[in-house]
Amino acid sequence: MDVAASFPRTRVEALARLREFLPVAPHYAAERNFALAGHPHVSRLSPAVRYRLVAEDEILTAVLAAHAFPAVEKFVQEVVWRTYWKGWLELRPGVWQDYGTQVARLRASAPQPILTRVAEVTSSRSGVAIMDRFVRELITTGYLHNHARMWFASYWIHVERLPWALGADFFLRHLLDADPASNTLSWRWVAGLQTKGKTYLVRRSNLEKYADPAWLQDTAGLDRLDDARVSAALVEDTADLSVVPLDQPPAQPEALSGRFGFWLHSDDLSIETSALADLKPTSCRAFLSGRMVETLGLSPLRETYLRGAMHDAVTRAAAHFGCPAEFELTETLPAAIAGWARQDRLTTVVAFAPLVGPLRDTLPAIRSALAAEGITLVLVRRPYDVALFPLARSGYFGFWEKAQASLKAAKRS
Ligand SMILES: Cc1cc2nc3c(=O)[nH]c(=O)nc-3n(C[C@H](O)[C@H](O)[C@H](O)COP(=O)(O)OP(=O)(O)OC[C@H]3O[C@@H](n4cnc5c(N)ncnc54)[C@H](O)[C@@H]3O)c2cc1C
Repeated sequence: MDVAASFPRTRVEALARLREFLPVAPHYAAERNFALAGHPHVSRLSPAVRYRLVAEDEILTAVLAAHAFPAVEKFVQEVVWRTYWKGWLELRPGVWQDYGTQVARLRASAPQPILTRVAEVTSSRSGVAIMDRFVRELITTGYLHNHARMWFASYWIHVERLPWALGADFFLRHLLDADPASNTLSWRWVAGLQTKGKTYLVRRSNLEKYADPAWLQDTAGLDRLDDARVSAALVEDTADLSVVPLDQPPAQPEALSGRFGFWLHSDDLSIETSALADLKPTSCRAFLSGRMVETLGLSPLRETYLRGAMHDAVTRAAAHFGCPAEFELTETLPAAIAGWARQDRLTTVVAFAPLVGPLRDTLPAIRSALAAEGITLVLVRRPYDVALFPLARSGYFGFWEKAQASLKAAKRS
């Protein structure tokens, strides 16, 4: 029987998880690749950091306060990978658009044998026991270890020869930490689209070295993953990789006058720990759109997680700002935001700038719904993101060199 892993659902739980992880952090480099029941060697912070119940720079500060840099360098590097992927996608939104187009086209018109195989693999009926196990874990817990994500994505693309975008869509619907940047770009990386000609191949010997031995007791289908049998599928890149000018909102809005409110959303649920902490909003509101949940096909587990995180965010906002703060389930986001702003007689709505992904896709409609009421939308961004996103112009290791310098400079100032 697997040991169940738990994931923080509130900021208090996220900070507690971070504290529990601190003694484990120096062993991370040596142990992190072992995918074991209960996931004892990794932080399990990703759902919390995805919605910023805790922010990346808070994690880095805590880990570096507890340990010397060389002892935790690998962990710091991994946290910074999240930032790299976010910056990379902000600079190339065409990649997100291409992913969405592919998913819609494949769902509507992929050949029937492909759709049938997708249905079998995503319902634990692939015949490869360890992959069926990963699917069960993903669906029942909303989490997979990083190595399991790599093995599964590689199996999907290079063994089953299924379209990568449908695999990424399956993950996006079920992962508690589902993130447009980390998910899309990791799937593209496994497919060989991120680093040209470099694919990630799942290998039986690697599974036998790093996977929990209990997971390999059932050897059904394992021979399909024999090292000599797995070869790279040729995947065509249809995305527009052009780099666009980066939109860089300020950390603080310029002088706010009149009644203003904070819109809290899933890209950052800790507004009270940001540069906005000293402002005095009239009210705060978080929304979950039923239409978005339905369009994206979010699993009940992921939807419940998101609701819990948003409840936590408004509870903290109410306590911190001493103003009314509510969570609202709604059908369409633009109409709901405009309705709240009208009802509370706001002249301005302030929010963190949504990142490339479903929320950013809705931004033009939100902006015009507010404009129709004569209300201004002001967007801000955390200084950490402002400093690091522009550095994601090329490969990770160049980014990492520059990111280290930027993080050290931020620590000195
Ligand atoms: C195919 C595939 C899909 C993925 N989809 C997602 C996704 O939708 N959302 C998501 O958050 N991560 C995704 N990842 C990255 C990674 O698997 C998870 O961030 C990590 O497993 C989360 O578990 P943890 O917090 O215990 O990680 P830890 O190992 O404890 O890492 C600490 C933190 O570092 C960051 N991190 C670690 N590994 C990576 C990585 N490879 N890429 C980017 N950031 C990383 C995360 O913020 C994580 O919380 C994906 C990886 C692959 C291969």
